[in-house]
Amino acid sequence: MTVAPSDLRAGRFAPSPSGGLHVGNLRTALLAWLFARSSGRRFLLRVEDLDRARAGAEAVQLRDLAAIGLDWDGEVVRQTERGAHYDDAIARLTAAGLTYECFCTRREIQEAPSAPHAPQGAYPGTCRSLTEAQRARRRAERPAAIRLRAGVTEWAVTDVLHGRYAGIVDDFVLRRNDGVVAYNLAVVVDDAAQGIDQVVRGDDLLPSTPRQAYLAGLLGVRVPEYAHVPLVLNRAGRRLAKRDGAVTLAGLAAVGVPAREVAGRLLASLGLPEDLHAALAAFPGVLASGALPREPWVLDPAELSRRRPREMSS
Ligand SMILES: [Zn+2]
Repeated sequence: MTVAPSDLRAGRFAPSPSGGLHVGNLRTALLAWLFARSSGRRFLLRVEDLDRARAGAEAVQLRDLAAIGLDWDGEVVRQTERGAHYDDAIARLTAAGLTYECFCTRREIQEAPSAPHAPQGAYPGTCRSLTEAQRARRRAERPAAIRLRAGVTEWAVTDVLHGRYAGIVDDFVLRRNDGVVAYNLAVVVDDAAQGIDQVVRGDDLLPSTPRQAYLAGLLGVRVPEYAHVPLVLNRAGRRLAKRDGAVTLAGLAAVGVPAREVAGRLLASLGLPEDLHAALAAFPGVLASGALPREPWVLDPAELSRRRPREMSS
């Protein structure tokens, strides 16, 4: 049996079940769905529950996504069920000499003198060249994190909305010293395993994308097409959060704004028709014309919970 190429093309939405999805998350989910569906891709859901997962949040998030009209293919994948795949990827990198143990505390990293040409925020390489005796001594003091031994300091990716984007690649963490796999590793392993060739997500993740694309190359997996979409900010210019008022579907429903109306307003903020199926039909044209917003949507949440006058209907 052969697998049709279209079965290997997929986009995805990958929420962290740390609480309810707010309108910023929902807007990103709508965009991820529109990008995938308008290009004939499958649309997959992955729950990124390695860290900060809150009991019951996943079920609420899936219900919210369905309530704004989104559908998805296949079973929902959870990162906590995929530990063996992450272990395997780290073992392969280690066998190739591409990892090392790091014993630094956060404070030690902050206080370490950075290498002369190291970019701001990059790991200074403190543990890169420890001798076996030094490692043995430090292992007795605290558990090690596993870092990538990167062969470059910068890598470039191409983004549908941002064009060419070059950013830092340092010896980033693959597994934290508490044993939890780092996002940068898990996301690359999972996207490859799920056949995801299109990654649409918030543009706060753009700076870490060069690290992930570089790692994909080391693991011999495909680098997906990226589209980093703008966040929703409050009036103070900060990322929308619970403290901003009614910003989740539950909160908005409580003040009389139903999910479909929220979806309509989010689509309108993207310059798309308020009906999801009309938005899907219009999406390729809006994308091709360059009209999809690149800047954050600054939202006064009170505006969202204010009901619009109903159109007259007979
Ligand atoms: Zn270190």
